[in-house]
Amino acid sequence: MALSINPTKNHRGREKGLLVYPVYSRRSRGLSVGINLFPDKKFCPFDCPYCEVFPFENNSFFLLPQMEADLREAIAAALEQDIPIKDICFSGNGEPSLSPDFPEALKLAASIREELAPCASMVLITNGAGLMKPQIFSRLLDAVLGSEKLDVWLKLDAGTPEWYKKINRCEIPFEEITLKKKEFASCAPVTIQTMLCSVEGERPSAEESHAWLEFLLGLAASGNIRKVQIYGKARSAPGDPLASSLPVEYLEERASSLRRSLEAGGFSLPVEVFP
Ligand code: SF4
Repeated sequence: MALSINPTKNHRGREKGLLVYPVYSRRSRGLSVGINLFPDKKFCPFDCPYCEVFPFENNSFFLLPQMEADLREAIAAALEQDIPIKDICFSGNGEPSLSPDFPEALKLAASIREELAPCASMVLITNGAGLMKPQIFSRLLDAVLGSEKLDVWLKLDAGTPEWYKKINRCEIPFEEITLKKKEFASCAPVTIQTMLCSVEGERPSAEESHAWLEFLLGLAASGNIRKVQIYGKARSAPGDPLASSLPVEYLEERASSLRRSLEAGGFSLPVEVFP
């Protein structure tokens, strides 16, 4: 019997050991079929205060045949109920590109997409930590430029080391990871995703906002940004109240300022806001 698609707006199924979890995604604007490579516990070198993954541990583990069966079932259920699938998305409880299963899982998911849902995008939501490893860097490059047509949604929350320390709390030096993101975006198109929220009551400084904008202008000059997604903290997180949402007007103001600068630089690309 086909799975009944009842996607929720939250992602809590990920903490119950699910490998595949259909959700209505605001940024995908429709049904997104998520793939979770870490059903047993969170695995991420970042520690963002707004992170929605609640601490958990269970006895589940990732198995490729199980992912295949679950993905096929989720797609079949959506097709049966006439629900268009916007994307198949590697996200889940951490940084997908760091899973040893990622390369094979991507290959398999892309072939299932071709077979059953050719209109769906193949998305990877990543903080860019995998780009620090040469094999992952080149695997992702192939995936974007080759037949898998991967759409990489690359996290860029900070333009300065100071804000990076607060908003991402990651040991990888800011300069090094930022350079890798720049290098990747100079070779392959990416979608940039930026979380704007306050941390311990502090919002990004004027210097931070300026540095972020300048960095994006530099990336746009490479011609390889598909779009920019600015999003706000919309759901609860285990770190609450460390991070809190900012007014939609603030998000819109940052987006407008980026649009104006892009336009003045002769660049045309969408800047979207998801409060
Ligand atoms: S990068 Fe993503 S998974 Fe990792 S801590 Fe930040 S929000 Fe959570």
